[in-house]
Amino acid sequence: MAKVPKPNELTESLLEKPNLLRGDQPKQTWMETPVEFKPGNYCHAGKSKVLETLKFPNPRDWQPADDDWQLPDGWEKIILEGFRQRLKKFRSFKLFMDICVRCGACADKCHFFLGSGDPKNMPVLRAELVRSVYRGEFKAAGKILGSIAGGRKMTIGVLKEWFMYFHQCTECRRCSVFCPYGIDTAEITMMAREMMHQVGVGINWILEPVSNCNRTGNHLGLQPHAFVSSIESLCEDIKEITGISIKVPFNKKGADVLFITPSADAFAMPGIYTMMGYLLLFEHIGLNYTMSTYASEGGNFGLFTNNEMMKKLNAKMYAEAKRLEVKWILGGECGHMWRVVHQYMDTMNGPADFLEVPKSPVTGTVFSNAASTKMVHIVEFTADLIKHGKLKLDPSRNDHWHTSWHDSCNTARAMGMFEEPRYVLKSVVNKFNEMPEGTILEQTFCCGSGTGLNTDEFMEVRMRGGLPRANAAKYVMDKHGVNLISCVCAIDRATLSSLMQYWVPGMEVSGLHELVGNALVMEGEKWPRAMDLREDEPYDYEEPEEPEEPEEPETTDEASPEGGEADG
Ligand code: SF4
Ligand code: SF4
Repeated sequence: MAKVPKPNELTESLLEKPNLLRGDQPKQTWMETPVEFKPGNYCHAGKSKVLETLKFPNPRDWQPADDDWQLPDGWEKIILEGFRQRLKKFRSFKLFMDICVRCGACADKCHFFLGSGDPKNMPVLRAELVRSVYRGEFKAAGKILGSIAGGRKMTIGVLKEWFMYFHQCTECRRCSVFCPYGIDTAEITMMAREMMHQVGVGINWILEPVSNCNRTGNHLGLQPHAFVSSIESLCEDIKEITGISIKVPFNKKGADVLFITPSADAFAMPGIYTMMGYLLLFEHIGLNYTMSTYASEGGNFGLFTNNEMMKKLNAKMYAEAKRLEVKWILGGECGHMWRVVHQYMDTMNGPADFLEVPKSPVTGTVFSNAASTKMVHIVEFTADLIKHGKLKLDPSRNDHWHTSWHDSCNTARAMGMFEEPRYVLKSVVNKFNEMPEGTILEQTFCCGSGTGLNTDEFMEVRMRGGLPRANAAKYVMDKHGVNLISCVCAIDRATLSSLMQYWVPGMEVSGLHELVGNALVMEGEKWPRAMDLREDEPYDYEEPEEPEEPEEPETTDEASPEGGEADG
């Protein structure tokens, strides 16, 4: 792993270098500025065996810092043909190539630009990396006049630039909120990544999870028995903490609901506590559910790869729902899984007419918003339970946490899920403060490591990109004493933990259902519940007084008052 600068070194580097944010002027035009790969500023390339397994083109071992990328003969033509096909197939892509007026409203809205000061991280310029090729290769003015008309040819220098800057975009869509034309730079990033895959140019941290998921159903490539035993070990922890025994049903046919969540909830910290929260919730309401050992992953890194892979990995969830003959699907806390389901499922694999329109078996609420996808977000489901008074909650069990809410880009900006998580959170905790306006709701700042960029070798860029989010977290820590940021995204839970450790030491990160699990008062639970789901002991219960030893009755020959016989 490349050496990561200390926080003060990273901040100083922002101040030392010429920076557009301070109004400094670059010495040369952006087209004349080549990329420079150095440890810490790029993600490792996709391994040959991973590309072979996926049957992706041009498998070989290479790295972005190599001079020779070992591209296939005629690679420029392959990319340009892919470009042409996508302009025809995706109307939005064609539109985004044509309509930008370079007003600059998006320029300072990207967290990577704010954290790096690199002009090519301004969304307008990031998109221009592709637009310039569009002009230079497909438009008459650009073909003839070249850079005078803002056009250029597809060259190895351009491809390297694409690799660098389309892997410094988390497809968070914050920039699109500010664009008067609604240009979605995330979609341009998606197209650029797809085109690069045509010549075997992609990163391993995306491709290996995709390959694993394609093979075994989850990102880590774990077999069904490993998935089961991991969740069963969490049930043992639940028993230890709460005294409640939970038996999770796997691959049960005919259950009401198939529950699918990111595999990080089964294996990684702090996601495992969120999983424990789900399991306690289902036990609390007596839900007739099953988990699948084949659809053992809600996350879909296909979204960060290409359209076909996204479709294939999404289809697996629905194939399992069909095989297990459930009524509908309940989805756990994830960001991009929901972007796929919410925005693309219907036209990719839907409508899922073999399933029923989701209806809560506890409250009778019909989730008509999921009438077509047949998939309900756990936060909507839990909010509905709380609204109908179906959960016995003791928010004081979360009093060791002073919370704030991180709107994950996909659930917030892509789904509009703003109120439900806040409603659930405020029902299970007593202490809550929002991060500042302009950094939450639809203007939320990304964790800086989404879209498969959450790899260790990329830590410096991640810490730069996460700076605006961390800044807002630091503000509420200093002003209100916030010590926990909660969110509903598995990637965020993992990446915000590193980010906070780096920029805001002392700030912890949790999923929402970890806090729900802490607050749930379960029938027959241990009392007092001394531990939270992290097995910490934060509760200030008074120790129950030891019962006094009963005095030895005096031994007499007389009969006892009750008329019984004295022992002995
Ligand atoms: S989508 Fe997000 S990461 Fe990408 S350019 Fe826009 S603001 Fe930056
Ligand atoms: S805000 Fe929209 S129109 Fe303006 S520069 Fe950015 S992408 Fe172009």
